[in-house]
Amino acid sequence: MPLDGKIAIVTGGAGGIGYAIAERFAREKAKVVIADVDTEKGARAERDLGRFGDVQFVKADVGRRLDVHNLVAATIDSYGEIDILVNNAGIAHGADFLDVTEEDFDRVLAVNLKGSFLTGQAVARQMVDRVKAGGPAGSIVNMSSINAVLAIANQLPYSVSKGGVKQLTKAMALSLAPFGIRVNAIGPGSIRTDMLASVNADPAARERILSRTPLGRIGETAEIAAIAVFLASDEASYITGQTIYADGGRLPL
Ligand code: NAD
Repeated sequence: MPLDGKIAIVTGGAGGIGYAIAERFAREKAKVVIADVDTEKGARAERDLGRFGDVQFVKADVGRRLDVHNLVAATIDSYGEIDILVNNAGIAHGADFLDVTEEDFDRVLAVNLKGSFLTGQAVARQMVDRVKAGGPAGSIVNMSSINAVLAIANQLPYSVSKGGVKQLTKAMALSLAPFGIRVNAIGPGSIRTDMLASVNADPAARERILSRTPLGRIGETAEIAAIAVFLASDEASYITGQTIYADGGRLPL
């Protein structure tokens, strides 16, 4: 098992893709800290995934520096070190450029981009200290999106944030490569989660997506979790700075 005994933080792990990643990690015998703003879903995830091994929920808003500090401190308190971070927490907001408010723009950027920066930096500092002390390197996986490179008119703040995550991934990878710490991103297409609820409820929107997806179906959260396991593990030991798109062939091939 490539993640056996590794200590992993998964942000936004109480639901959707993050939950699937936390579940795969726990099944692979990693110790998992789920960070999420949703206390109810977080407590449920801790309970339900606890049957696979060591899973803890910590309430944290990744856009708030103090919460991120507390998250890292709680993880170090429990396990003494961190091997893996998955910066998965994210929110979407649908609005065209001319209608986006400053508040909506700030809110989406604060969670999706600044949250990945704050959490990535706080965890990377722990990882670098461990390498300097002669310990092993770690791996960071950010959650981007096909929207990083595919502009969708009514998803402006979201697309901008995910483009930022793609570039953040490269910059973090460069900075952390001298320590052997790898940083990559996953760029999902349309995956069946609550974030896609409006699409699922609208047959025309669903049909539009499917018609642009060569594999002809919406993706499953487990299909993203499988990539997270690979990127987090030593199996991906020569991969850093990359964004791996899992989109059923939607981006131009
Ligand atoms: P989701 O809404 O189902 O789950 C997101 C989770 O993040 C929830 O548990 C939520 O409570 C948590 N969260 C929200 N704000 C947070 C914050 N400030 N701090 C901590 N936790 C927070 O969404 P999802 O579809 O599972 O999306 C997960 C990630 O994948 C996001 O970054 C999203 O942008 C990305 N993504 C999703 C899709 C898709 O089609 N579902 C496609 C591309 C990228």
